[in-house]
Amino acid sequence: MYNDVEKDIESVLLTQEQIRQKVSEMVRRIDSDYRGKELVMIAVLKGSVLFLADLVRGFKRPLEFDFIGVSSYEGGKVSTGVVRLDKEIAIDIKGKNVLVVDDILDTGRTLGFVKHYLQKFEPNEIKICVLVNKEIKRAIDVEADYWGFKIPNVFIVGYGMDFENHYRHLPYIGILKR
Ligand code: 5GP
Ligand code: MG
Repeated sequence: MYNDVEKDIESVLLTQEQIRQKVSEMVRRIDSDYRGKELVMIAVLKGSVLFLADLVRGFKRPLEFDFIGVSSYEGGKVSTGVVRLDKEIAIDIKGKNVLVVDDILDTGRTLGFVKHYLQKFEPNEIKICVLVNKEIKRAIDVEADYWGFKIPNVFIVGYGMDFENHYRHLPYIGILKR
């Protein structure tokens, strides 16, 4: 028998309702900023998938999306600092307005790497959208153009975010028991 995953959660940091409201606010902001412009979202696997799915469903305007796969966390809670490309993008972004969608901006290494990788395809512009912005000193000089929540330096799971590939399916964001 399995234990209910909720037993592993110390506390809920952001509820389903808080996330839902924030995502619709972000949709409104992005929608008005990209009025009259083409929009291509590139989501960073796998942490961003729930966020992306909720985000895109808020838009009535045309848009495209694709995924990029990178890894830096080798399973645990501590980043190795090395970012590796696991999956290339498969759509043409030349001359397009790219919005990179990710779960968390932490040290900035992941999004710095992704931005650098995407630049070689000569998009018109690259902007960054994350659900969670950690208030820490970045290792890389990269900032989010759109972010949902600022949080202190705690380790969170749920709504796409994992610990050793578990807990991604939780509909809220929580802090794990030690
Ligand atoms: P960075 O490269 O900015 O240090 O980290 C970004 C990536 O690390 C995020 O996309 C996410 O996958 C992972 N990450 C950073 N902080 C957390 C956290 O608190 N919880 C989880 N599950 N992943 C995190
Ligand atoms: Mg990630």
